[in-house]
Amino acid sequence: MKVAIVTGASRGIGRACAIKLGSCGYTVVVNYSSSEAKAQEVLDIIKANGGDGMIYKADVSKLDEVKALVKTVFATYKQIDVLVNNAGIARDEFLLTMSSENLDKCFDLNVKGYFYMAQQVGLKMFRKKSGVIINMSSVSGEFSIPGQTVYSATKGAVNQFTRTLAKEMAPYGVRCNAVAPGFILTEMMDAIPEEKKEEYIKHIPEGRFGTVEDVAELVYTLCDDKLSYITGQVITIDGGLSL
Ligand code: NAP
Repeated sequence: MKVAIVTGASRGIGRACAIKLGSCGYTVVVNYSSSEAKAQEVLDIIKANGGDGMIYKADVSKLDEVKALVKTVFATYKQIDVLVNNAGIARDEFLLTMSSENLDKCFDLNVKGYFYMAQQVGLKMFRKKSGVIINMSSVSGEFSIPGQTVYSATKGAVNQFTRTLAKEMAPYGVRCNAVAPGFILTEMMDAIPEEKKEEYIKHIPEGRFGTVEDVAELVYTLCDDKLSYITGQVITIDGGLSL
């Protein structure tokens, strides 16, 4: 059985990815930072669907916690086949008023956290000569929305990190791709005022915001070995928003 770690899997997109992978045969590590009950609920759903896994509390922006997470998972299952680097935060604010604290929080989780997880898991995949890493990016990594100077910079970094890591790891049988969602209905979007949402939806050709299940399907598909010739790509899923 293949083992997948999904970071930030207690809510939103990560939750849907964990449930999808867990319901399709993966043993899933449901990582969270504070929402233990919600993480347990995700694992319960996976088990009810015939899957298995564990919940694991770790702040993935901290290297020592990442090392402990990967050590525990590897000691338990002896393999890690898939990493979904998903845990991320947005701190939408204009640059001129952005605090250095929010700047650090975004880069620590959205960039350093992805790096730490990919490095620690990558060491295991490198030895096994197989594995799949999926980085959750955003359309903001390529397109500009005022108020997202910092968030978009972190996602732009994720995109280039993905391409370079894919090139480094391809000789060792490890694929690395990024998924770049547009507007997806999660708690992250609760911060956007209703009138702004109505404005944004006018720019989406499909005329709707995406669902977490839309993204989870893509993540699951990219993990499939049948797609073993796809690496280093940033795949947009946005209902046509960025066209
Ligand atoms: P969300 O609903 O806010 O959920 C965030 C998840 O990350 C939660 O499970 C949370 O755990 C976890 N988390 C937060 N800080 C953490 C940390 N330091 N260590 C470990 N886990 C942590 O977010 P989302 O909307 O699903 O977004 C997920 C990813 O998709 C992010 O990378 C985001 O940038 C990207 N994305 C989202 C959208 C969108 O429209 N929603 C669009 C494009 C890209 P707790 O519950 O324990 O706090």
